[in-house]
Amino acid sequence: FLEGRTALVTGSTSGIGLGIAEALGAAGAHVALNGLGEPAQIEAAKQQVSKAGAAEVRFAAADLRDASAIETMMAEVAAWRAPDILVNCAGVQHTAGIAEMPAQRWDMLIAINLSAAFHTMRLALPGMAARGYGRVLNVASVHGLVASVNKSPYVASKFGLVGLSKVAALEYARAGDRASGGVTVNCVCPGWVETPLIEPQIQARAEAAGGDRTAGVRDLLSEKQPSQRMSLPEDIAALCLFLCRREAHNITGAAMPVDGGWTAQ
Ligand code: NAD
Repeated sequence: FLEGRTALVTGSTSGIGLGIAEALGAAGAHVALNGLGEPAQIEAAKQQVSKAGAAEVRFAAADLRDASAIETMMAEVAAWRAPDILVNCAGVQHTAGIAEMPAQRWDMLIAINLSAAFHTMRLALPGMAARGYGRVLNVASVHGLVASVNKSPYVASKFGLVGLSKVAALEYARAGDRASGGVTVNCVCPGWVETPLIEPQIQARAEAAGGDRTAGVRDLLSEKQPSQRMSLPEDIAALCLFLCRREAHNITGAAMPVDGGWTAQ
């Protein structure tokens, strides 16, 4: 149902972003990928999204720490095809107590997890409004809704992203109409999703359990995620796909947990 639509997915060389890009491609969209990675990893991601059924796939390079690089990337994508769907999925983590958190890490996490989304949104939303259809899907986290220890910049960035999304949802609420699909801005808030991002946390717990990775995963889940199941990137992608539908025109400003009950506690 996304034939003729164009999506830009940041952080789509790996993990959840790649899963979302694949799902959008499978629905027939033109997809621009972005993220860090070796040329081989980028090529593999392009192939994967292409094979899923995307009308066209291209790579939009930008280190999202750099606002001017984001502006260049957005101009390049717009010159190719105006983005109807913007997925801000790039994100990084660093765990340490506040007192031990390196100040540079703070700046880096805020830049990638929060400021980058502001820049892509400010550049993409006016065009979406002019065309009457637009979807901004910001991949926040349960940590945009509740806190955990040792994640100060991550939690701050994700709460910020939830707030930023609500502001944008309000500012663009009247754009378009039911027939065109309107412009909506939402956050998806995953709990644990099995991707490279959380591997260091799994490994730390596995080491404490004598090197058993399965025990490490179990330990991680048992602390906060009542379902005791990891999500997969495709589970998060399925929700994103639904939010792109025309029928989702009135779902805006929401922050939807996909967390096995984590934030129900
Ligand atoms: P991942 O490490 O597999 O992917 C992160 C992506 O971001 C990669 O494509 C990477 O290249 C890109 N990226 C990192 N720094 C970048 C930069 N400076 N410029 C451009 N791209 C950059 O991680 P993931 O688990 O797929 O995470 C994706 C998003 O989901 C993140 O925002 C993360 O906070 C969020 N999230 C993940 C989980 C989880 O359990 N894995 C849970 C909740 C939220």
